[in-house]
Amino acid sequence: MNLPVFRFAPSPNGLLHLGHAYSALLNRDMTEAAGGRLLLRIEDIDPGRCTPDLEQAILEDLHWLGVRWEGAVRRQSQHLPDYARLLARLQAGQLVYPCFCSRGDVRAAVAAGGPDWPRDPDGAPVYPGTCRNLPPARVSEQLASGQPHVWRLDMKVAVAGLGGTLRWSDAGEDGAIRDISADPAAWGDPVLARRDVPTSYHLSVVHDDALQGITHVVRGRDLYFATSLHRLLQELLGLPAPVYRHHRLILGEDGRKLAKSAGSASLRDLRETGHSPEDIRMLVGLSPPRGSTAMPPP
Ligand code: GLU
Repeated sequence: MNLPVFRFAPSPNGLLHLGHAYSALLNRDMTEAAGGRLLLRIEDIDPGRCTPDLEQAILEDLHWLGVRWEGAVRRQSQHLPDYARLLARLQAGQLVYPCFCSRGDVRAAVAAGGPDWPRDPDGAPVYPGTCRNLPPARVSEQLASGQPHVWRLDMKVAVAGLGGTLRWSDAGEDGAIRDISADPAAWGDPVLARRDVPTSYHLSVVHDDALQGITHVVRGRDLYFATSLHRLLQELLGLPAPVYRHHRLILGEDGRKLAKSAGSASLRDLRETGHSPEDIRMLVGLSPPRGSTAMPPP
């Protein structure tokens, strides 16, 4: 029998905070309950923001929290050729196109389109499609001259090739599995390979979830809409679809998502001010682990 495989996949671009702790502990608890395996993946494709020191801090924090993983840690930055190969498959299928627009070019085109310009599920303006149908000779010339570019998914072409509606199974907070229909088109033509690295979060995550045999993806609700795009990529690339669970987010006192940039306390701060791993469980609303001697809240 194949055991369920879970993963925790942080990006080392800041210290972990309570939101990460909730995700890591929930993955750990669900792995234990399912008698499965938990893997750790470091999503460090962003060379400008991810550092080895921050990765080390993540490993220490997880260790302190009591989250253990099986086998070697997968570091995405060490596998860029894998993602480049996946991109090459999309290129061969003419499902992606190079986009030479700078951020300023996109901003100007969007501004010219007026105030009602469509936005993607993350709130960013949908790409206006400037480079979607450039003459092939011009594309070859610009590529040959080394002009900086990203690779975008040609969404119209990608969804046109689908047999029917894309769906995924999502386990709610109550554990009931819901059948969700995906809406990848809401993303417009998303970037699948950046200027600086031959990949993106979306491409690497579907690659690694498949490669590592992940059967259960447990992550925050902030990635709920990204799952539509992940399902599309899985379909285009013949990769299996895990079961998803998008858990509640731990919000700050101001009701906003926790973030280092917003000054949220890191797990390290909490540890240094005397909090225990059991306190962290309670702070994120998880019941104490079995056999814990921690007192319930009054
Ligand atoms: N690396 C992502 C993050 O830290 C998580 C990706 C995922 O769980 O799919 O937000």
